Amino acid sequence: MTQTINPFTLSLNPEAFQKTFPGSSSQRRLSTLKNYFSDVTAADSILKKDDPVVYEMWEMENEAPGRCLSFGITRILPGKVGKEYYFSRGHFHTAGDGDELSIILSGRGILLMHSMDGKSETMDMSPGQMCYVPGRMAHRVVNTGNEALVFFCIWPPKIDHDYETIVRTGFPKLVLSGINGPQVVENPSYHPINR
Ligand code: MN
Repeated sequence: MTQTINPFTLSLNPEAFQKTFPGSSSQRRLSTLKNYFSDVTAADSILKKDDPVVYEMWEMENEAPGRCLSFGITRILPGKVGKEYYFSRGHFHTAGDGDELSIILSGRGILLMHSMDGKSETMDMSPGQMCYVPGRMAHRVVNTGNEALVFFCIWPPKIDHDYETIVRTGFPKLVLSGINGPQVVENPSYHPINR
């Protein structure tokens, strides 16, 4: 089926984009993310009282053949599970190995990336900045601030998102709150897929 995309504009105002976003939106609550956090006991104790929204996504996936683009906006709320800051769960791109651009609209955070064999990269994210994510690297965004972290992403169509590997291996690094603010530490539970 051929999908025709007409020209359009979209406000990237982090407070107002929801009103005009042309695609669909969804929410991720803690109950569906529990196994991605390092402190499952802390997650369980929050879930006894509440099931908070951790992040929300607005996406427009364009699957037309040719050179169209898909894009989305993710809004990660401020919060922690134990000492670990709220994050987007993170994924590898499986099909096509397409790359991705992330442009930070508001808030403060850390982008964690790693390849299948466990080589990792960490980048600070602040408003107005762009991060280039090679498709071969898993990527997760962590909100280290006390306001929502909002970022805009663009990726080529026909990418399959692999979340399963992340559930099995975790990320090599964790971002935890420390006495002097956010700290990036080694994840003791991480193991590369090929071991
Ligand atoms: Mn991606």
